[in-house]
Amino acid sequence: MPNHILIITANSHDAATLEDALDRAHDGPFIIEWVTKLSLALARLHAPQRTPIDAILVDLTLPDSQGLATFNPLFAQASGIPIMTLSDLDADPQTAEAIRLGAQGSLSKGHFSSALVPQALRNMILRKEVEDALFVEKARLAITLNSISDAVISTDLHGKVDYLNTAAEDLTGWLLADAQNQPIDSVMRLVNEQTRDPVANPIFKVLRDDACKLLAAGTLLIRRDGSESAIEDSAAPIHDSAGRLKGAVMVFHKTPAAHVMTERMLHQVQHDSLTNLPNRTLLNDRIGQAIALAQRHNSNVALLFIDLDNFKDINDSLGHDIGDQLLQAVALRLCSCVRSADTVSRLGGDEFVVLLDQNHSEEDAARTAEKIREALASTFEIAQQPLHISASIGISTYPNDAETAPDLIKKADTAMYQAKAEGRNNYQFFRRDMNVRAEERQVIEAHLRKAMDNGEFILHYQPKIDLLSGKITSAEALIRWQHPCWGMMLPTRFIAIAQASGLMLQLGRWVLMQACTQGKRWENCGYSLDSIAVNISALEFRHKSFVESVSNALAVTGLAAQRLQLEISENVLMRDVQASAVILQQLKMLGVQLAVDNFGTGYSCLSYLNQFPIDVLKIDQSFVRDIRNGNGTVVSAVIAMGLSLKQRVVAEGIEEAAQLAFLREHQCSEGQGFLFSQPVNAEQFANLLRCGIRSPINTLQQITGT
Ligand code: C2E
Ligand code: MG
Repeated sequence: MPNHILIITANSHDAATLEDALDRAHDGPFIIEWVTKLSLALARLHAPQRTPIDAILVDLTLPDSQGLATFNPLFAQASGIPIMTLSDLDADPQTAEAIRLGAQGSLSKGHFSSALVPQALRNMILRKEVEDALFVEKARLAITLNSISDAVISTDLHGKVDYLNTAAEDLTGWLLADAQNQPIDSVMRLVNEQTRDPVANPIFKVLRDDACKLLAAGTLLIRRDGSESAIEDSAAPIHDSAGRLKGAVMVFHKTPAAHVMTERMLHQVQHDSLTNLPNRTLLNDRIGQAIALAQRHNSNVALLFIDLDNFKDINDSLGHDIGDQLLQAVALRLCSCVRSADTVSRLGGDEFVVLLDQNHSEEDAARTAEKIREALASTFEIAQQPLHISASIGISTYPNDAETAPDLIKKADTAMYQAKAEGRNNYQFFRRDMNVRAEERQVIEAHLRKAMDNGEFILHYQPKIDLLSGKITSAEALIRWQHPCWGMMLPTRFIAIAQASGLMLQLGRWVLMQACTQGKRWENCGYSLDSIAVNISALEFRHKSFVESVSNALAVTGLAAQRLQLEISENVLMRDVQASAVILQQLKMLGVQLAVDNFGTGYSCLSYLNQFPIDVLKIDQSFVRDIRNGNGTVVSAVIAMGLSLKQRVVAEGIEEAAQLAFLREHQCSEGQGFLFSQPVNAEQFANLLRCGIRSPINTLQQITGT
């Protein structure tokens, strides 16, 4: 192939001499083009349709430009074409500058020999070709090195970094531009994992011994930002074509252990450390995936929000250790209730969420909820202690209730609260009107905080009646909230919220003080009342200063201890029988009366009941209601048991004369219910004390003649 040469000179003699020298070249033809001005040269180079030029010979002194003003635009335009200048003197400063800027060499005018000129041109063209090939090779190498996952660093003979690939940039935290020329031990700071002593970089050994080296195991690389990773590496010498040592290269990567660690960390980020179940982050992901799949297949996703009932009592009374173990045991039972494709996760505290993947109908969800309730119902044996727990479950479904993961969780949570409100230990599907309740909950909590200061609470009293004589024996204090806008609020609407927010402690103390004050006032008025009864929530009962606050209320108000009756729900007492027994003993030492409220609804262990210093058993209303359906067996059994344990038995929720008759027939000592009186304010109660109850007992007595 002939080489195309562009000669740029205004000197026709020089041009002719060069042409002559090239024409006579014996090792191949040159095609020569000659122009006399820079502008013509640039126009020629700019003509893309013409044969490309392989080399340029230029006289820097032209009619339209001089010196570097000739060279620079030419060099810019002729990108990649080797340029040789034609100079008058050997040491022409402009030629020297042109060579510094990129010219390949120069030919001295007057020495254009037919041997030298073609050879110089051929060398120049060849060198350019080699340079281009090298550039491509280098680019290919750089791309290869940057696309492998191993980190690669190379140094010169003195251990100064001359190259690192992107993986090495990632691992060391150094960019190539910053690392170049830095000593390798600055870019790769190595320490021993155990001792934290510095570890010598193997590159130095490689350079010293001219042999491959491995890095000692247990070496940590300290990144530029101070973070650390365990690495494995090998280093090798670099030789030139003559076998002379030119530097060293090191290839390294994070050790598999580091990968394991990374995975472990990822696991930790996505899982709950106590139960090892997926946490909220992973759950959100899984719900997102399930929704995407369901969208594609036109199917459903169901979410069960599970909150353990009264878990806080167990945690507060038995300690966090037991609480934690119980949560772990619950997690296991939950997992046993679902298929492997489903997700059981823990959001924190005693809240769990079960995601039922694809193709679950509402019936499936209900069945799973029922299965979970059953699974949790059997006794847990934690630290040799039998524990009982139940759960309230809320269910939401995609696409019915929500379309995003957070919304689906929120809806299931709302339904769960409804399950709590419906008496716990049950499940509820989300309904649109529940949304209002979730918001209502928040509003109530906010108002509760102010209500205490604003004096919006009052106590109503409901009489307990001696079923033989019809006389009032006791007054049960029942709290009411007189909200300035909402009117009279019953405790079922706010007690649970007060407990959940912790406000119940303050509220409970107020009730106790208020009830004792009222009891003392009635005593001072000369009304004969055996006791004033106060309901105690789980939160108060388990609180460490509870006994003290009772004794304080008695001391401040002057009410005799035996005139105060504390009603504690059976569920609360049975949660942790040993701790309950201790508290009950302490209360008994004060001299107060103790009543088991809602008796029959918990899982009472009768042998414990026997040991508790209990004065009164209050049969839950639900059993009294059953009398109406001809099912009075529980009631009669409890009465018989109370009699044998020498405990007074109070039947709650008596609404009908038939119930009263049944109770009297079975020698129930006391009763309470709308049949006698609704809960009334203190003044109305004083009236009842004064005038007596217009009791159906009298009527009954007349009928039965007793
Ligand atoms: P409880 O201790 O079982 O109180 C009896 C509840 O049954 C009262 O509801 C009472 O009004 C109602 N009741 C009484 N007789 C009848 C009847 O014949 N038929 C029907 N259907 N209901 C009857 P209330 O006042 O709404 O209180 C509900 C619950 O709130 C109480 O249940 C008690 O656990 C709690 N509570 C009330 N006041 C307080 C308080 O000051 N502190 C605490 N910790 N809890 C309280
Ligand atoms: Mg009560």
